[in-house]
Amino acid sequence: MTGDIGPIRPVRHVLGISGGKDSSALAIYMRDRVPNMEYFFCDTGAELPETYEYLNRLEAALGKPIARLNSDRDFDHWMEVYQGTLPSPQMRWCTKNLKIKPLEEWVGDDEVVSYVAIRADENRLGYVSTKPNIKAIFPFRDDGIDKDGVMRILDEAGVGLPAYYEWRTRSGCYFCFFQRKHEWVGLKDRHPELFDRAVAYEEKVRYQETAMQGRKYTWSQGESLDELIDRREEIRSRHEAAMARAAKRIKPNRPLLDVLSEALDTDDDEAGCSVCHL
Ligand code: SF4
Repeated sequence: MTGDIGPIRPVRHVLGISGGKDSSALAIYMRDRVPNMEYFFCDTGAELPETYEYLNRLEAALGKPIARLNSDRDFDHWMEVYQGTLPSPQMRWCTKNLKIKPLEEWVGDDEVVSYVAIRADENRLGYVSTKPNIKAIFPFRDDGIDKDGVMRILDEAGVGLPAYYEWRTRSGCYFCFFQRKHEWVGLKDRHPELFDRAVAYEEKVRYQETAMQGRKYTWSQGESLDELIDRREEIRSRHEAAMARAAKRIKPNRPLLDVLSEALDTDDDEAGCSVCHL
């Protein structure tokens, strides 16, 4: 007689949506290919209002809900755990605790195929879980879908781009430290209350600085947000000049987003977070 091993659970197919264009396009691309796909969004509690609005639009196009995964502990809790330091590209505790952990808890020990939206024209890895039960696959890379392909998928589905792409090219938290200088100015213009909240975090951290041996923690490299916004006009005119140069370099009839991305890259062309900015 064999022992009772219980029912065999089917493999789960999951696709993480960051609120950015690539993962959203992949969700639509896979909609009819994997009917039992489970879509999810890891909500840090600090997302832009435009992201929530876009998720609603996407749900309508997908015809099914996007599971919202919230960490049981919020950003403020983790900030205390990390002794009052702000996260940074070198210490990305926010991604680990607010994006990756909730996903790994949600899938548990289930066998999972995770669909990751790295494009064919990108040279980055994307998040691959170290959990042995999660297998990552890259349909855009495998099927040769590049940035133009992504834009086509979103256009044809009638979804378009999230509204924040008018001023910022990366999804994620309103205070994300991967923002370029002009994107911070954009946050101040579009969401002054969120900008003020980001300033309040910096002020909170300032009290810890003595304990942290005088090291200065700011969201944007080299200056506080107050200092950055004092230079608003200088940043704006530098950005306008970069936009004009980018518009000349880029072929006519390209989307405005290409010009904006190229102009912002002159400030900082680091690829951003491969979990949050897809
Ligand atoms: S969007 Fe930026 S701040 Fe938010 S979790 Fe990701 S890396 Fe951290």
